[in-house]
Amino acid sequence: MSPPARLRIVGGAVHDPANGIDGDSRDICIEDGRIVADLPAGAPTLDARGMVVMPGGVDIHSHFASSSCNHARRLIPDEHAADPVPAPKLADGEPLARSGTGGSVPSTFTTGYRYAGLGYTTAFDAAVAPLTARHSHSELDDTPCVDGGIFVLMGNDEYLLRQVETGERDRARDYAAWLLRATGGYAVKIVNPGGVEAWKTGQRNVSSIDDQVSGRAVTPRAILETLTDAANALHLPHPVHIHCNNLGVAGNSATTLASMEAIAGRRAHFTHLQFHAYGGGGGEPWSSAAAKVMFGSAVTITADAPVEYLLYKSSGRRWTNIDIELETGCGIVPLTYKDKAAVSALQWAVGLELFLLSQDPWRVVLSTDHPNGGSFLAYPALIQLLMDRSVRDEQLKRVNPKLLAGSALADGLAREYTLNEIAIITRAGPARLLGLRTKGHLGVGADADVTIYSRDPDLATMFSTPRYVIKGGALIVVEGYLRRAPAGRRLRVAPGYDDALLPDLRRHFERYSTVAFDNYPVADLPGEPVATA
Ligand SMILES: [Zn+2]
Repeated sequence: MSPPARLRIVGGAVHDPANGIDGDSRDICIEDGRIVADLPAGAPTLDARGMVVMPGGVDIHSHFASSSCNHARRLIPDEHAADPVPAPKLADGEPLARSGTGGSVPSTFTTGYRYAGLGYTTAFDAAVAPLTARHSHSELDDTPCVDGGIFVLMGNDEYLLRQVETGERDRARDYAAWLLRATGGYAVKIVNPGGVEAWKTGQRNVSSIDDQVSGRAVTPRAILETLTDAANALHLPHPVHIHCNNLGVAGNSATTLASMEAIAGRRAHFTHLQFHAYGGGGGEPWSSAAAKVMFGSAVTITADAPVEYLLYKSSGRRWTNIDIELETGCGIVPLTYKDKAAVSALQWAVGLELFLLSQDPWRVVLSTDHPNGGSFLAYPALIQLLMDRSVRDEQLKRVNPKLLAGSALADGLAREYTLNEIAIITRAGPARLLGLRTKGHLGVGADADVTIYSRDPDLATMFSTPRYVIKGGALIVVEGYLRRAPAGRRLRVAPGYDDALLPDLRRHFERYSTVAFDNYPVADLPGEPVATA
């Protein structure tokens, strides 16, 4: 049974903030996988009267398709046994669905099914070591229902650091372009610039953006500047995606602000700010200087290897730490966020404050950094906290009041997000920040990715069980059940670069890499790259 090429979604309350539509009752028309202005009479219809219609969700920052996720899956076999996932029963004629495991880091097919079940149709893995990109693409091939891509780690890359060290910033830009092409990446990711290289050489970490990295003439500041300028000069759809130095360290708001000042006036994306916005330090207690973090179990997975060492030391949990030759590192520690624990409560409060105090919803994005701050399955509960003050106040009572002293939350923030603001932080905003012109909205020409919710006074229920989900024009969730699981499209870029780079880069590989230069690039990726302007 092939899905109808045409569909008219009739009479839903449409929330499409990118096109200025705020709950108006109107029809959305779909033909051949795209939104169109109208359809002839007699086209198939879907009655959405009384329901809420939004573009498909866009997860800008998640970890679900990488070799580090595979390490995490190995590290938590107990979670697999606790959450077995039978294969969904798809519509007749659909390819065989797969069983899998859930928990904090679900298996590939289950990840796709669960994103679809939440009404999400696009997701990015936010940290892939270039050397392991081939693995990520294989996992994306096995993650149905979502269009996806990868952010490529570059902030501790040996060849890049050499160019920074010798002031060869043009060559650094060409290398970034070559690496994005070679890996089929979508964006440049920086994690703890210089700090992971310092960790690998025994320096432990850097502590400010002007520290030297491993005694070399290279600093986090220079790495930030070089890669920010490279991403902008290459006209990438998404600017450099930055995880700052000093994650989780008391007083780190100073480092975060210094990083922002270092590249002031230039386009950049700072991620998981609630881990980088702590006051205090120098003997002062920690305090919130600004929630995506939910209480419960999570797994921290990051290229920020030195941070994972600290988490392991403070939590005593099992852990693993992996050096990736010439490129980056990785650490993994399972964690449980407890509402009475100081750090968990602080992160929760900072996250909520960032959302409730932010004047402009287009500049904040809902993400749990899955599975770092909790599973993406927590999004409905987080949406409820933002939209329903009474539920939020109940949750606040669970948190140790001493920990909330000084927080704006303790004074009772009255703000409640509207449906349109939720549509911004979960769809329109992330799509715009990613430079995805056909995602996150329902205007003519957009991809026909649509989520339709039945209204429910319990907002967590409403957002966790969409009534219908449409992916690329195909109805994949019907009456709350997954019925189809089409392969997603790959989102990647292929910027140009000066070939003069190649002889030097080949020499570098021949000298230092265990992988031959000619075998390094990922080959035969599906689909066309997203255009760089
Ligand atoms: Zn992350």
